[in-house]
Amino acid sequence: MPLPVIGQGRPSFSPGENGSGDRGSKFRPRTVLFTRRGAVDRLWAPWRLAYITAPKDKPAATGDDCFICRGVAGTEDRANLVVHRTELSVVILNLFPYNNGHLLVTPRAHKARFDELTPDELVDIQLTLGKMIGALERRMKPDGFNVGLNLGRAAGAGVPGHLHWHIVPRWVGDSNFMTAVSDMRVLSQSLEALYDLLVEELRS
Ligand SMILES: [Zn+2]
Repeated sequence: MPLPVIGQGRPSFSPGENGSGDRGSKFRPRTVLFTRRGAVDRLWAPWRLAYITAPKDKPAATGDDCFICRGVAGTEDRANLVVHRTELSVVILNLFPYNNGHLLVTPRAHKARFDELTPDELVDIQLTLGKMIGALERRMKPDGFNVGLNLGRAAGAGVPGHLHWHIVPRWVGDSNFMTAVSDMRVLSQSLEALYDLLVEELRS
């Protein structure tokens, strides 16, 4: 499966989490800049620098430290970027997305290990993944998706204490359509607009 790659040779998805630090800048329109370097097409997301360079010395090992748990427990879903809830899972917009529409699908329970998930949680998460992929397909018309789970810090999980699946919409040429200005092109979508788009779609 071709996976999105960020500059500096970082592996797919990693460490692509919603960020557990300062979230005061959410809903700020974000610019997506893609470029092509050498023989490998890379999906370059420069706004992720704030996440990548943030201190990582405080792992989200408990619910109190975990932005997913705060979103689950909170009542301000829009402020917390919680775009959808089911009985056993939630969907959160990634504050530092690799691409427009980058979502996180997580169990409500703070569980780090795949084998800790109950059969009901596994089914709920799979159905939620399908539901969100469908919503993104209808409203954003991507050409494909990367859907994946990073287990553990070594595999790229930025919040290893709480399992979460990534959904990253992909468009043909989203890593290499360098045509408009020199060899780069810019597109943007605010998280707020994405939130409203998905809420509207899920209610329809
Ligand atoms: Zn948690």
